[in-house]
Amino acid sequence: MKGRSISSVKALEIVDNRGMPTVRVRVRTENGCSGTADVPCGSSTGTYEARELRDGDERYRGKGVRKAIHNIEEFIAPRLLGMDTTRQRDIDLMMIDLDGTKNKSKLGANATLGVSAAVAHAGAASCGLPLYRYLNAHAYMLPVPQSCMVNGGLHAGNDLEFQEYCVMPVGARSLAEAVRLLSEINLSCKDLLAEKYGKGATNAGEDGGFAPPMKSAREAMDFLYRAVHKAGFENEVVYGIDVAATHFYDKDRRKYLLEGTEKDRDEMIAFLKDLVKEYPGIVSLEDPLFEDDYEGTSLITRELEGTMIIGDDFFTTNIHRVRKGVMEKASNAVLWKPNMIGTVTEAFETAHYAMQHGFSVVVSERSGATEDTTLSDLTVALNAGVIKVGGIRGSERGSEYNRFIEIEDELGTSAAYAGRNFDKTKP
Ligand code: PEP
Ligand code: MG
Repeated sequence: MKGRSISSVKALEIVDNRGMPTVRVRVRTENGCSGTADVPCGSSTGTYEARELRDGDERYRGKGVRKAIHNIEEFIAPRLLGMDTTRQRDIDLMMIDLDGTKNKSKLGANATLGVSAAVAHAGAASCGLPLYRYLNAHAYMLPVPQSCMVNGGLHAGNDLEFQEYCVMPVGARSLAEAVRLLSEINLSCKDLLAEKYGKGATNAGEDGGFAPPMKSAREAMDFLYRAVHKAGFENEVVYGIDVAATHFYDKDRRKYLLEGTEKDRDEMIAFLKDLVKEYPGIVSLEDPLFEDDYEGTSLITRELEGTMIIGDDFFTTNIHRVRKGVMEKASNAVLWKPNMIGTVTEAFETAHYAMQHGFSVVVSERSGATEDTTLSDLTVALNAGVIKVGGIRGSERGSEYNRFIEIEDELGTSAAYAGRNFDKTKP
């Protein structure tokens, strides 16, 4: 359709919540519609993620994205002009072909994802539909927000090795109510932290949670249990931990450096099993072992039956890695981050493959984010049961929560909050 053909593509270098540069893309169509998307970025990245292009010069300490922008404007845009913006798959396949590498290292995944998401927005706008509806006429599910309350690992300057201690308000009756619970738990956390560690402990970590001077997983879990109890929601909340084990694994020594000890794989699995036993509210563990350990991940998935074992750095939203996980029964859920793979089409392919093979899909933001809310719409389009959206502080996270509230309102009686049915692999 002529009106939907792309008439211009513009890219900008903007900054995210960490003050780091990232890419914004705007796509316009002949019929006067437009779509804009910002590209998120991780701090604790997986080895097998698609490559984001950084300039490596003196600007922004090498983190500038002018090369990615150049690639969008010089190489991608000329191919896009005149294409129907609703031909998402054709457009993404064209970029994959133009890039020609396995990991988007030529054009940059920050270039391809920015274009891909902006094209999707422009497609939705030119059809007069919200993005989630444009991508799926059967979208109805609002996910349980898995909200990070305590940051550790690469997301905080404290001694906690595990990266995220999260609460999941599964007992709320709606997404809007879930957000209220999170807000009240956040305030309880703040009170308890100030009481025990002083008000300096209420500073935010990179992911919007708190970054208190805690030293062990048990200290963090005890604290979370107390904060949830103080807020009065112990019957409404379950817990998830992003272990992010790759980032404290010493490859040479083949040991996890955890809480002042060195642990081999079996000791690490035993540690996590004990933790889940002591804190039965824990329903999910992300990246419990380092990113290449399929055998160990298969073992822990078996041994912790009933717990969601999520692959983040382990899968990098890459269908080939997920396929291996399915074959080897290594984990039972995929952490879904579109920028890890570089196009909307490939990200959806990975999600659908995972779902068809009995794996859950847990959508996730990146620690580097802007006020862009594309991910909320993609989550609803997937009817995913959980989204990991960081803490509830900061407008880069608040905008996602608010977009869900808006979608829930828009869906009205056809909306369903995933609640206790967040794990799609369970009957
Ligand atoms: C994560 O590891 O799940 C995460 C959100 O962190 P980052 O965006 O820094 O990779
Ligand atoms: Mg992770």
